[in-house]
Amino acid sequence: MELTKEAIQEVGEMKRKHYAMVINGERVESASGDTLETFDPAKGETIATVAKANEEDTEKAVQAARQAFDHGKWRKYPVGKRARVMNQIASIMRSRFKELVEMEVLNSGKSVGAATVQINQAIEDFEFYAGAIVGHRGVVNNMPYGFFNYTHKEPVGVCAQIIPWNYPMMMAAWKIAPAIAAGCSVVIKPASLTPITAILINEICHEAGVPEGVVNTVPGSGAVVGDYLVQHEDINKVAFTGSTPTGKDIMEKASQTLKRITLELGGKSPNIVFEDADMEAAVPGSLFGIFFNTGQSCEARSRMFVHESIYDEFMEQFVEKTKQLKSGDPFDKGTHLGSIISQEQLNVIDSYVQSAIADGATVLTGGKQMYPEGFENGYWYEPTVITDVTPDMKAVREEIFGPVVVVEKFSDEKDVIKRANDTKYGLGSSIWTTNQGRATRVAHQIQAGIVMVNSPFSAFPGTPFGGYKESGFGRELSVETLDLYMEDKSVLSYYGPKPLNPFGV
Ligand code: NAD
Repeated sequence: MELTKEAIQEVGEMKRKHYAMVINGERVESASGDTLETFDPAKGETIATVAKANEEDTEKAVQAARQAFDHGKWRKYPVGKRARVMNQIASIMRSRFKELVEMEVLNSGKSVGAATVQINQAIEDFEFYAGAIVGHRGVVNNMPYGFFNYTHKEPVGVCAQIIPWNYPMMMAAWKIAPAIAAGCSVVIKPASLTPITAILINEICHEAGVPEGVVNTVPGSGAVVGDYLVQHEDINKVAFTGSTPTGKDIMEKASQTLKRITLELGGKSPNIVFEDADMEAAVPGSLFGIFFNTGQSCEARSRMFVHESIYDEFMEQFVEKTKQLKSGDPFDKGTHLGSIISQEQLNVIDSYVQSAIADGATVLTGGKQMYPEGFENGYWYEPTVITDVTPDMKAVREEIFGPVVVVEKFSDEKDVIKRANDTKYGLGSSIWTTNQGRATRVAHQIQAGIVMVNSPFSAFPGTPFGGYKESGFGRELSVETLDLYMEDKSVLSYYGPKPLNPFGV
């Protein structure tokens, strides 16, 4: 079915029993007829089926994107026109805000509070890049007399965008918005567990006026669809968000065709509470830093370091507040923690907790699966605080990706910086101190792409988001991101009065 405005309105609401993929501006079923089942993890119930792409469908999407890029009009639009369409995407998303939030909650089990923040940010991403692209331009370079040189910024081409399940719509927006602002075409592959809102954004892009083929969505498995995209010769760039092992695999395969890549990977981010921290900010901020999105955040501050002189006081308040956090009905505005995404992920979380216990750690609160009333068949885990850990424990070294924090004491600034950096990851970090000199000193020594000082928030449109070390490279969400979707072409010309004859023959 062609995705005209009328077609979308005819279908009406966004909540359906079945979702098709989107290729070349149309709703398309998979060539094989296969479907994915998507679940509401809060209840463990099926909510809809989704067309499941295979290589044949993915090929169609790549060719649609290629055609749109090579022969279509999107990249040739004046930037002001592209910006207008992107603002229209944001405006349609705003008008459907409640429905989008509802779908995100249903497909991810996250709390309505978390989904609201994330959909808002997804909308603002389109607005941000609509504005940013208008002022984004090349430069005229200094040259010897007679020569003129300027940098022409050109879209990089067809981009494969592969995203995870923890922020389904926000990640889709983080990827699509800068790419299309730059004039690229995209094929986006959402996580198999959470494909719905990426499909909805794609439909909205068409309704807003993005031409056919510029944005295509192919839900399917990473091993099939993801792998096919990464190795495809017609893909110029891969933008990936997901786990570090998958990122490494993608980097290796993408190197065969020297694709541009950006990798937003895992983390094990430190949260450092100094003795001069303002407790009223540090306790709730640290709580949010780990338990927001039920700990299923790449920048979750999952390793907490607390100064020995305030340790007892801080931990008493922290554990007390952890116990007050409410898990349960994700649609209840009073709910703090939604469900875990799947039984499989819940098992992973629990196995880390059990390994910590076996290694001699102490669980101060939480530490097991839970069954909120009315959601007994869903996947829920108690917010968990673990102490008496040592740096070599698996639960301290590896990303758990759930509501679990490990806590260590420290005695001085130099030592805590060393310990905070003792990880292969380098995504987020938080510092709690009232000493401005210390804040800056420590911020500059932490090996991480993001340092939050007296704030639990890590990302706003405009702030560069990305990692050091094995947390990946490239930055999203910022003006600089546009350059990762563009090539800088150097155009060099001669305007001297005499013809150039460098060989003199
Ligand atoms: P994942 O790596 O298992 O999957 C991510 C995506 O990659 C999915 O769409 C998946 O289908 C696809 N994929 C899997 N194997 C592939 C392959 N061989 N080739 C191509 N694509 C493949 O990660 P996940 O479990 O969905 O997400 C959780 C991870 O994402 C965590 O490690 C988390 O830290 C990370 N994450 C990072 C950021 C960031 O900005 N740094 C943001 C969110 C999540």
